[in-house]
Amino acid sequence: MPRIRPRKTKRLKHAAIARIAGRPAKPSPKLPASGCRRVSAEISEIVRKRAEAEAAIAEARKSHERLREAIDILPQGIVFLDAEGRYILWNKKYSEIYSRSSDLFEPGARLQDTIRIGVERGDYPEAVGREDEWIAERLNRLYQPGERHEQILADGRCILIEERLTEDGGIIGLRVDITELKQREDSFRLLFDSNPVPMIVCALDDERILGVNDAAVEHYGYSRAEFEKLTIRSVQAFETELPWAGDRSSDELTARTWKHVRADGTLIDLAIYSRQLVYNDQPAVLLALMDITERKRAEARLAFMAQHDGLTGLPNRNLLRQQMDEILLHNRRNAEKVAVLVLGLDNFKAVNDTLGHGIGDKLLRSVAKRLRSILREEDTLARLNSDEFAIVHSGLARPEDAVFLAKRLLEAIGDPYLLDDHSVVIGASIGIAMSPGDGEESEKLLKNADMALSRAKNEQRGTFSFFEAGMDARAQSRRKIELDLRDAIQGDVLRPYYQPLIDLATGRITGLEALVRWPHPERGMISPAEFIPVAEETGLINGLGGLMLRRACMDAALWPDDVRVAVNLSPAQFRTGNLLSVVMDALKQSGLPARRLELEITETLLLEKSSEVLATLHALRALGVRISMDDFGTGYSSLSYLRSFPFDKIKIDQSFVRDLGSNRDAQAIVRSIISLGIGLGVIITAEGVETEAELSCLRTEGCHEGQGFLFSRARPNVEIVGLLLAQCGVDAAAADSEDAALVA
Ligand code: C2E
Ligand code: CA
Ligand code: CA
Repeated sequence: MPRIRPRKTKRLKHAAIARIAGRPAKPSPKLPASGCRRVSAEISEIVRKRAEAEAAIAEARKSHERLREAIDILPQGIVFLDAEGRYILWNKKYSEIYSRSSDLFEPGARLQDTIRIGVERGDYPEAVGREDEWIAERLNRLYQPGERHEQILADGRCILIEERLTEDGGIIGLRVDITELKQREDSFRLLFDSNPVPMIVCALDDERILGVNDAAVEHYGYSRAEFEKLTIRSVQAFETELPWAGDRSSDELTARTWKHVRADGTLIDLAIYSRQLVYNDQPAVLLALMDITERKRAEARLAFMAQHDGLTGLPNRNLLRQQMDEILLHNRRNAEKVAVLVLGLDNFKAVNDTLGHGIGDKLLRSVAKRLRSILREEDTLARLNSDEFAIVHSGLARPEDAVFLAKRLLEAIGDPYLLDDHSVVIGASIGIAMSPGDGEESEKLLKNADMALSRAKNEQRGTFSFFEAGMDARAQSRRKIELDLRDAIQGDVLRPYYQPLIDLATGRITGLEALVRWPHPERGMISPAEFIPVAEETGLINGLGGLMLRRACMDAALWPDDVRVAVNLSPAQFRTGNLLSVVMDALKQSGLPARRLELEITETLLLEKSSEVLATLHALRALGVRISMDDFGTGYSSLSYLRSFPFDKIKIDQSFVRDLGSNRDAQAIVRSIISLGIGLGVIITAEGVETEAELSCLRTEGCHEGQGFLFSRARPNVEIVGLLLAQCGVDAAAADSEDAALVA
C-alpha cells in the first residue's frame, strides 16, 4: 500500500492554480525586452510543468478515490496511521464503529488525541476511573504488532482490534464488531455453566477435557482441576469408541449410551448428546450427559423379571424355552443327547398350608439352591411353576447318566431343611425326557417330561420315571376320564358296592366297606384305582365323596343295627373345610347312628400334619364316628401317625397280607402290627385276604378282622342285603320278601 500524503498534495495544488489564474504566486520584478523572451520561455516552461502537475494531481486523486472506494466496501473498519500515529485514511465502517468519535477524525489528527478526548467524553466505559492508565495501555498496544484485543464502547458494543506495523513505521488497524458473537458466547456460557444437565467440552483432536459445568463437577465428583487433567476417554468405563465417534463430520445432536466412571469409582450409564463447536478458538465437542442409570436399571429389572422367577431368581419357563432351543440346536449339530428333567415336590401344598407361605417360600428357595449346587455350571435350572423345576442336562453319553443325576437330585432334596426352627422334610418326583428320542423341540420335551413326572407321582412318589411312547395317549385318556366322570357324577351314575369285613373269631360280618363303582357306557365297569386319582387332581372328588357318603349311610341305615359301614375319604375332602357338615348331613338324612359309620383315611392325609385336619378328625370322632387308618404300613412313618391321632382301627395293607405265606419279613411285620394294635386297644383288620393259609396265619397271630376275596368281593347292595339277612338266621323265604322290600 503506497503511502499517501494528502496535505502536501493540497499545498502543490494551491500554488499551481494561482499561477494559471495569472495571479502572482510571489510579487514579480520589472523585466528588459531580452528578458521578455526569456520570460516567455519560462512561462511556457511553467505552463508545461503546470499541466504535468495537474495530470499528476488528477492521477493521485483518482488513486485515492479508488483506494477509498475499495476500503469502504470492506465489512471491517480499517484505519491507516503514519509513524507519528496521525490519521491518514479510514473507511466508512471505521467511522460507523466509532460513530461517537467520528467528528474527531481528520487527516493529520493524532489517534492518541482522539482517544484522550473520547476517554474524557466517556466513550470507553472500560477506562472510567483509570483513564491515564487505560490510555497508556491502549497506546502501548498500538505499537505491539499482531496484538489483538477487545474494546467495549459506550453503547455496549464489543470491538475486536488488531493492529499491524507497516514497513515505514506506520500502522494499519482493523476493527471488527464482535458484539453479536460475544453475546452468543455469553449465552452459551450462561447455558453451559448454569445448566442442570452435566456438560463437558473436550478438544476434538486430543480428547482433553477443556471445560465442565457445575452440574458435571457435582455429578462426577471430580474437581474442576482434576477434570482438566483428564481426557474424555479416561472417564469411560470401557475401552470403547468416543461419544462422538462414528460421525465426526456431523454436528448433529445425536444421543448414544455410554458408561462412565465417577470419582468414587461407581459406574453410571449415560445418554450423551454431542455437538461440535469452536471453543476458545479450537475445534471441540460439547457433550450433554443425561444420566440414565436408573432407567437402565429399571429396564434391566423388567427384562430380568420377564424372564425369571421372582422368588428363586431362576429362569422362568420363557427363558428356559429360549435357552433350551439354543442347547437343542447346538446338540443337534454335535449329535449329542440332552436330558430334560422335570422335578415336582411331593405334597408341597401341605407345607404351605401347615407352616404358612413364608416357610413355603423359604423351602422353595432352599430347594432351588440345593438343586443348583448339584448341577454343573452348564446345566440349566428353571422354575416352571409353584412346585416344579426343570433341569436341562446336555452332552449326555447314555440315559444312565440322567438316572444318576435324577437319583442325586432326589437324595439331595430329601435331606431335612431347617427353616425358622422348623425341620421340614419334603420329597420329590422326577420325570425325564430325552432328546432326540422323545422330541426335538423344547415344548414337546417339557410336555413329555411332565407326563413322565405325572406317572412317577401316580405310581410311586419319590422316584423318577422316563417318558415312554404311549404316555401321551394315556394323558389323553385321563382327560377323557375327567370329562366322563363329570357327567357320571352329575347323572348320578356312580354306585357304592360293599365288601364285607369279617370278625375272624366268629366269622360274622361286622361291617361293609363302600367302594365306588362306575358302570361306564362304553368301557364297562371302571376301577376306582383309575378314576379316583383323576377325581382327586381335578377336585371332582368332593362331589363324588359326598355322594358316596350319603348313599352308604342310606343303605346302611336299613342293615341290621350291629353292622357298620366304612367309607373312604380323600385328603382333598378335608381341604374343603365343610367335611364335618357333609358327614353330619348324611347321618341326619339317613338316620344312621354315628357309631355305625367308619371313615377310612390314609397316611397321606396325616403327612400334612395340619392342625385343621386333626381338628376335623377329632370333631368327627366326637360325633361318635369311628376313624380307621387305611393301607397301614405303606407310608413313610406309619408309626408316628398313630401317635398323632387315636384311631379306632388299623387296616394292614394288602401287600403285607399277600406276602404272608412266602415272606418271613412280612410275617414279622404283620405280627408286630397286630401286637401294636392290641397294645393300643385298636381293632386290626387285614385287607386282601385271598387264601385259607393267609387266614389261618392271621388267626394264629390274633388279628381281629379280615377283608378280602376269600370272604367276598365288593357287591351291590341288593346282594349285601341278602348276605346280611342270611347271617341274621332269617329263613330264605322271609329273607327274600324282606330283601325285595328293602330294595324297593
Ligand atoms: P382301598 O380303600 O384299599 O380298598 C380296597 C381295595 O382292595 C378295593 O379295590 C377292593 O376291591 C380291593 N380288594 C379287596 N379285597 C381284595 C383281595 O382279596 N385281593 C385283591 N387283590 N384286592 C382286594 P377297589 O374297589 O378297586 O378300590 C381301590 C381303591 O380306590 C380303594 O382302596 C380306595 O382307596 C379307592 N376308593 C374306592 N372307593 C372310594 C371312594 O368312595 N372314595 C374314595 N376316596 N376312595 C375310594
Ligand atoms: Ca379303604
Ligand atoms: Ca386299603
